[in-house]
Amino acid sequence: ADIPTAAISRLVTYLRILETLEAQEIDRTSSSDLAERAGVTAFQVRKDLAYFGRFGTRGMGYTVPLLKRELVRVLGLNQTWNVVIVGMGRLGQAIANYPGASDYRFQYVGLFDVAPELMGREVRGLNIRHMDTLRDFVAAQAQGQQRVDMGFVAVPPDRAQDAAQALVDAGVRGILNFAPIVLQPRTSEMSGQQEIGDEWRGVIVENVDFLAGMKRLAFYILNPHLRVTDTE
Ligand code: NAD
Repeated sequence: ADIPTAAISRLVTYLRILETLEAQEIDRTSSSDLAERAGVTAFQVRKDLAYFGRFGTRGMGYTVPLLKRELVRVLGLNQTWNVVIVGMGRLGQAIANYPGASDYRFQYVGLFDVAPELMGREVRGLNIRHMDTLRDFVAAQAQGQQRVDMGFVAVPPDRAQDAAQALVDAGVRGILNFAPIVLQPRTSEMSGQQEIGDEWRGVIVENVDFLAGMKRLAFYILNPHLRVTDTE
């Protein structure tokens, strides 16, 4: 069955709630408890979880550590994810310095930029490298069984397409794009024409766009009655 992307967003939310419950040493929860904490309906919670299996006992709810472990497994967070950051300006440095990623097995293995003044600078134990070396770096990591799984794009908007293309050309299959542009799975041809690039096949792009969030917020502050949540 097709699983709506919104359902995956909610699984991430449920996981965060389970982490909080676990920290509070609360051992049991239910779909209605999770629903209330997540701001959705109990039906929604049960439906989202049902995509991946049967986790609770009918009428008994869920055991917090067990459900948490299952969601960690479903989301793939029990494996190591190697990440490179492209663009080590204000945002790239803030991301690299933010410790939250290491709650799970995400690890930054490479930091890239083009600015001469940033070359070699150390951030969280890694030296910033030049973009020209990205491809060789990713290849060398793969040789050493340290495949680079994800690339974060934190360059100015007008550089983001090129940065993403460089990641894809290097063989990175997942991109988290922080630049406020829609990345195109296209390769520019010498002729100036743009073609869908084969190298983009299977590449997953997720966008983190806080400017977009600001604009949605403006709209919904002006039109609160138009906000319908808890739908597919
Ligand atoms: P910044 O100017 O501080 O840093 C951008 C970095 O990218 C610079 O170090 C620059 O040398 C590097 N760069 C430029 N071209 C490159 C290339 N081709 N390859 C590799 N590196 C390259 O900008 P910022 O504030 O960090 O923002 C980065 C991106 O994130 C922008 O798209 C911005 O819109 C977005 N963003 C920033 C913030 C924020 O709070 N700073 C918030 C949301 C989104």
